[in-house]
Amino acid sequence: MFARVPSVGLVGVEGRLVHVEVSIGTGLPRFEIVGLPGSEVREAKERVRAAIENSGYPFPLRRMTANLTPAAWKKEGSGWDLPLALAILAAAGVIPVERAARMVAVGELTLDGDVKDVRGMLPVARTAQRQGFSLICSTDSLGLVETVPDLETFPVRTLREAVNVIQGTLSPRTIRRATHVSDPEPSEDFADLVGMEYAKRACEIAAAGWHPLLLAGPPGSGKTALGGRMIGLLPPLNAEEAVEVANIHSAAHLSTHVNPSLRRPFRSPHHTISAPGLLGGGSHPRPGEVSLAHRGVLFLDEFPEFSRAAVEGLRQPLESREITVVRNQIPVTFPAQILFVAGANLCPCGRQGTDEPCRCSPALLQRYYNRMSAPILDRIDLFVEVARLRLAPLAQAERPESSRVIRARVERAWVRQQRRKPGCSFPFNAGYSLQDLQTRAPLSPAAGQLLEAAYHRMGLSTRAVYRIWRVARTIADLAGHTGVEREDVAEALQYRRRPGNFDGAQ
Ligand SMILES: [Zn+2]
Repeated sequence: MFARVPSVGLVGVEGRLVHVEVSIGTGLPRFEIVGLPGSEVREAKERVRAAIENSGYPFPLRRMTANLTPAAWKKEGSGWDLPLALAILAAAGVIPVERAARMVAVGELTLDGDVKDVRGMLPVARTAQRQGFSLICSTDSLGLVETVPDLETFPVRTLREAVNVIQGTLSPRTIRRATHVSDPEPSEDFADLVGMEYAKRACEIAAAGWHPLLLAGPPGSGKTALGGRMIGLLPPLNAEEAVEVANIHSAAHLSTHVNPSLRRPFRSPHHTISAPGLLGGGSHPRPGEVSLAHRGVLFLDEFPEFSRAAVEGLRQPLESREITVVRNQIPVTFPAQILFVAGANLCPCGRQGTDEPCRCSPALLQRYYNRMSAPILDRIDLFVEVARLRLAPLAQAERPESSRVIRARVERAWVRQQRRKPGCSFPFNAGYSLQDLQTRAPLSPAAGQLLEAAYHRMGLSTRAVYRIWRVARTIADLAGHTGVEREDVAEALQYRRRPGNFDGAQ
C-alpha cells in the first residue's frame, strides 16, 4: 500500500517541489519519516496521528514509512503535516491514490484536525502553478495564494475538508488574474520640510541613481524626517517586481495577506537589531531586513549604534545587491537590491554641528567613527551634513516642492538609465563598472579636467573618483544631459566630503 502526495518546500525564498511518499507494510506499528526531515518535521508524527484520529479516520496501526523526496536538502517547517496525513489516508485506502497525486498540499495540522497557514505560501503557490498542479491549503493562506494567476486552489479549514477535496466533493477556486492594490500616496511629504534644500537635493540624487547616502547632523536636524520620506521619491514597482517583493515577505511570513503591492518596501530597523535580523539567517534561513527592503529603502538611523557585525555584513549587499547566508554548509542567497540610507549624529554627545561645545573625548570620538567601519563608508556615494532645523518663517512665500514633483524627475532619470542598459535587473548608475562609465558616462573635456584636478588636489583614491563619476552621471541624467558636463562633476564633488571627522573611521 503506497501513495504519493506532492508538496512544496522552501529554500530561501524559492519553492521546491517535494513528493511525500507513504508506504504501509506489515510488521509492528511504527511510523518513521525519512528524506532529511528537520526537527519540526519529526514532530509532525504526533500532530498527524492526532489530527487523523480526531477527524474520525482510523490511523493505520502497521509499519509505516514516509519519505520526503528528493532527500538532498533539509525539510523544515510544519507545512508537511497536511501532505503527510493525506498520503497516509491514501495509502490506507481512505481516499483515491491517483487524485491525491495531482494536488500539491501544504499546511500545518492542529491536534483536532484544523489546517493552519504556514510561511512562504506565495512561493509555494507559484511553484504549484508553474508545475501544473492544483493547490490545497489553509483558508488563512488565501489572501496570498489568490494573487497567483491561473492556479486552481482549494482552500480548506480542516483535514476532513481536504479529504473531501480529493474525493471530489468540494469545488476549487480558480483565480484567473492576479489582483494588485493601487499605489497609495506616501503620507509624509518632502513639502513638509522647510529649508534643507541641499540635503533634499542629495536625497533626490540618491533616489535617481540608487546611490548609498549618509545623512549626518545633530539631533533634531531633520535626518530622520528626510530618511523616512525617501520612499516617497521612488516610482512604484512594476507588476513583476511587486510579485518578487511579495515572495520575500511571504518567506519571512510577515503577514498572510501581503498582496503584491506596487508600493516599494521601506524598512527602518532599530539599532539594537541582531546581525542575523538585519542580514538574514536563523536555523531555517529567513530573509533579514536587507532583503525585506529589496527594491526599496533600507534606512538605518543612528547608524554608529548598530553592532559591528551587522554593519560589516552590509558590505556584500552594498557591493553585489544580494546576501548569502550559509547554514549547515548550504548557502542560501536572498536578493538585497536596496537604496541604502544611513543617519548619524556627528559625535556621541550630539553637540557637534551646533552652537554648543562638544564634550566628547578624542578617544570616544575615535571609537564612534570606527563603529561606522571604513569599508562601509567607502561604499557610500553621497555624504550630507544636515544643519539643525531653524524655525520656518511663518508666512512662507511658497510651499516647498512635493515628493510627487521630485519623484517625476527621478522617474525620468530612471528611464534614461534603463535605456542605456536595457533588460538589466539593476541598470542604475550606482552599479556602473569602470567599463560602463567609459562607454555610458562620457565626460566632456571640461568635466574630465575638473575631475582630474580634484583627484590631484583632494588626494582622492581611484575608487573615490569612480564614485564621483557615477554620481555625476546621475546628476546629468536628472538634468537631461547626454554626456557628463562640468557642472555635473562640480555638483557631485560637493557630496564627497565626509562630515565632521568621519574620515577617521577604520
Ligand atoms: Zn560630542
